[in-house]
Amino acid sequence: MKKEIICTVCPRGCHIQVEGEGDNVISVEGNACKRGFTYASAEFSHPVRILTTTVKIKGASHDLLPVRSQSPLPKEKLFECMDIIRGAEATLPVKCGDVIIPDIASTGINIVATKNID
Ligand code: SF4
Repeated sequence: MKKEIICTVCPRGCHIQVEGEGDNVISVEGNACKRGFTYASAEFSHPVRILTTTVKIKGASHDLLPVRSQSPLPKEKLFECMDIIRGAEATLPVKCGDVIIPDIASTGINIVATKNID
């Protein structure tokens, strides 16, 4: 399988062609530096994303609490994580960094607040 991956490590945005079988990378071309090789190889075999979104606040009809995953989540788990987040409610007061949803979707990664709200 061949995949084109745009490197997001620096603003140059190299278009990198990765060829592989399953999770195994066979060749990487188009990267202008070694960081792009590492990024494209990881993106091919195990893509991850930081999830940034909002959570409802208990008792508040309009306000939402901004949250993010503490570290990158496996891309294939993002929809499951969003379903969990949609059903969650944060209880005030909340401080930036508070864990709102621990171990989301059994990933070992917490969803944390990114804002203080009293
Ligand atoms: S491959 Fe290197 S030069 Fe190209 S976008 Fe990635 S980090 Fe930047």
